[in-house]
Amino acid sequence: MLRVILFVFLITPSFVFCQLDQVRNWTKNLCSPEMHGRGYVSSGDSLAAEYLATEYKKLGLNPIPGQSSMLQAFQFPVNTFPGAMEVKLNEKELIPGVDFIVDPSSGSFNGYVNIVYLSSKEVYDANSRNEFLNKYIENNKQGIVTNIDDLKGDSLKICKARLREWSENFTIVQLTKSKFTWSVSSEFKNYPYIILRDSLWDNQKLSIKIENKWVKNHTANNVLAYLPAKRKTTKTLFFSAHYDHLGRMGSETYFPGGNDNASGSALLLSLANYYKKNPSKYNMVFVGFAGEEAGLIGSHYYVNHPLLPLEDIRFLLNLDIMGSGEDGITAVNASLFPKEFKKLKQINSKKKLLKTVNSRGPAANSDHYFFSEKGVPCFFIYTMGPNKNYHDVYDTYEALSFAEFEDLSQLIKLFANKL
Ligand SMILES: [Zn+2]
Repeated sequence: MLRVILFVFLITPSFVFCQLDQVRNWTKNLCSPEMHGRGYVSSGDSLAAEYLATEYKKLGLNPIPGQSSMLQAFQFPVNTFPGAMEVKLNEKELIPGVDFIVDPSSGSFNGYVNIVYLSSKEVYDANSRNEFLNKYIENNKQGIVTNIDDLKGDSLKICKARLREWSENFTIVQLTKSKFTWSVSSEFKNYPYIILRDSLWDNQKLSIKIENKWVKNHTANNVLAYLPAKRKTTKTLFFSAHYDHLGRMGSETYFPGGNDNASGSALLLSLANYYKKNPSKYNMVFVGFAGEEAGLIGSHYYVNHPLLPLEDIRFLLNLDIMGSGEDGITAVNASLFPKEFKKLKQINSKKKLLKTVNSRGPAANSDHYFFSEKGVPCFFIYTMGPNKNYHDVYDTYEALSFAEFEDLSQLIKLFANKL
């Protein structure tokens, strides 16, 4: 008995350590500056795709039968920021990502900006575009500074859209107290649209050097790795996790995307590693989708160009934001697939794994969405916890706790085995 206890004591922690250690290592590599935030500058997303394909090959996985490569290429337009990203107030240089971000549709500008300050009410009331533009163009104003933090809901949306539209003719500076949340745009305007920490603004002299580059046909790659079932079948389980992120905002600043979604990409690799050694009754496909941050482009492309019949997908589990879990997980599409959700919840409470398994209705918020639309049964699972870094420069590898990694991967495996 003592021997058994000793054995368990010695083996279990080291196994757990190895699994998590490897997951941490994959995550760290995906978050490294060499991956450029897995976006559109310096081929960050292509480098990440190559890295993942190499790791899947090392684990002994192959391309989907009939394919010569794990990569599935597609193109889309994207606005990028490979060069200068300077904003100065009275010649003091601000820190990109920390003091300001640019709207992803920003254009280029170099020089001093002669500004006019508009209240949120003035922005909201300025519905006659031509009259408004003429007034400021006549007065030789090149920039508009405003703060629309007091607006909510539709009024806020209308004003955001208006400011973006005005950046066709003016540099826009929107002051805000809110957290910075960056994204990706497929189009660009003539002038920059800067979102600036409000406490820094005191009517200083504003100078800007920002360079955008619009790429008409950016090529990105979905990564698809395959494992055959124990016995021949056409039925397949899909595990997906987008690996792309927001890339660089200027040559010095990148968004590492630790939680979103280096964490999910690493968890996917660890599942592949497990199922290579423990084959399932289903074939398995591990997909790293690209272009998610640009609007679910990779998964949309895949459902329109599937490499295996979509009808043969028994279930798809999309894993996005896998780095915490202290406050449990949420399953999007729970209400669409109540039987599967009940199973997921039952396993969790029986094995006492995660604090909660929340249910959520359908939402177009990750790569499961277009599969759902085509009638493929699927969940999108995300973890919840104190780490609220999202689409900002603080979503780093270092900020990830992986607090529930072992329980989470246990739950996913047990659930997949019950399907
Ligand atoms: Zn994201």
